[in-house]
Amino acid sequence: MRPDVVIVGAGLFGLVTADRLTALLPGAWVMVLEATDRLGGLCASTVCPHTGVQYNPYGTHTLATSDPDVWTYVAGRTRMISHQRRAYADIGGELVPLPLGLEAIRLCYGDASLTPEAARVLVEQDVAPHRTGRAPASAQEAALAALGPRLYEMFVRGHITKQWGTSPEQLAPGVFTDRFGIRFTPTAGLRSAVGRQGFPADGWGDFFGRLVDNRDITVLRRHAASVRDLPPYTHACIVTTPIDAWFDHDLGTLARGRICVDWRLTDRHTAPATATTTYPGPGVPYYRAHTPEHLPGQPANPTEKVLVGYEHHGDGPNAIDFVLRTPDNQRLADAYRARRTDGVVFTGRGSTFHDDMGTTIAAALALAADLAKTIERSPKWP
Ligand SMILES: Cc1cc2nc3c(=O)[nH]c(=O)nc-3n(C[C@H](O)[C@H](O)[C@H](O)COP(=O)(O)OP(=O)(O)OC[C@H]3O[C@@H](n4cnc5c(N)ncnc54)[C@H](O)[C@@H]3O)c2cc1C
Repeated sequence: MRPDVVIVGAGLFGLVTADRLTALLPGAWVMVLEATDRLGGLCASTVCPHTGVQYNPYGTHTLATSDPDVWTYVAGRTRMISHQRRAYADIGGELVPLPLGLEAIRLCYGDASLTPEAARVLVEQDVAPHRTGRAPASAQEAALAALGPRLYEMFVRGHITKQWGTSPEQLAPGVFTDRFGIRFTPTAGLRSAVGRQGFPADGWGDFFGRLVDNRDITVLRRHAASVRDLPPYTHACIVTTPIDAWFDHDLGTLARGRICVDWRLTDRHTAPATATTTYPGPGVPYYRAHTPEHLPGQPANPTEKVLVGYEHHGDGPNAIDFVLRTPDNQRLADAYRARRTDGVVFTGRGSTFHDDMGTTIAAALALAADLAKTIERSPKWP
């Protein structure tokens, strides 16, 4: 007997697709091939044996979505804790709320009494020489045209350079525009216009465990799949893993950066005071620190140590490869995506590269719905 569908990669995309497909199409058999022995890919979570704190080894993952179907789906599988994630930048020991807003402008221009109107005028003056009238060619040009040089130097240049291991001059404008921006009112560390935010009370690991607790889903762990040793399937194969590796890099290899999160037990008095703190300044080797103990729902930590994940560019434990946003990569990725392979769908982080969890879940639910309809119409079903 062969599975109806094979999914390569037991990350968020693969497991949500498997779960939804088997719910929509009772009796369908989905086989998931996973290279590691972990479920959930980058979103996996575990418990620190020393402090009892629940954490994501690859960095804190909060679902933020304006799509009610995404939230309803996840909340239907696990108990969610609603939590508005707040982020701060540490500028010489002072915590400044992100995204950039009135608090950041006041610090940058050295005037704690600036009104939103006065802040806008000051930033506009700095931005004006950088508005070229043409589309920005790099992340640096995009940042200068939005923030001007002062805010750029204080909050953005170091952050992007430390995260991507490459100067913002070499990176596509989206590196800036997707993650940064400017408001002239206080932000208090909150992203605006996101409908629901939160994470599972028992961690993402528990959520993934529930998804695969299903006799119609078979997960083969420690099974690194490739186009050469793919098991036969009846209807479709969904590949969520790196698209250039799938094609043996025959058109070339996408340039990647590497970050890692180095988890350490840190003395309480030196641990960051917030759950997510960024460090754009040059004096600190990491660009972000995760302190999950500050998130809601965590058990009391009986020890004097605090678990902190220091995220930095380069190799190390919990390394994550990510595709650089460069024009060359864009062209190469488009060439790979344009390849047609009957019955094979390329999706997930391996092909889309930079989606967040909300977008990933929405795409997985949509793909499962399409597949269910296609399979139901197939003469090979049931
Ligand atoms: C540092 C960081 C922090 C993030 N934080 C957030 C956040 O707070 N909120 C948010 O919404 N999003 C966040 N994201 C994005 C989020 O991680 C992704 O949207 C999500 O992980 C995508 O899931 P995926 O299944 O497509 O990919 P992945 O999680 O990469 O899963 C792919 C799976 O395929 C497996 N695999 C790889 N090669 C093979 C092979 N040859 N054979 C079999 N299996 C293979 C991998 O082991 C992995 O399990 C973050 C991303 C990063 C890098």
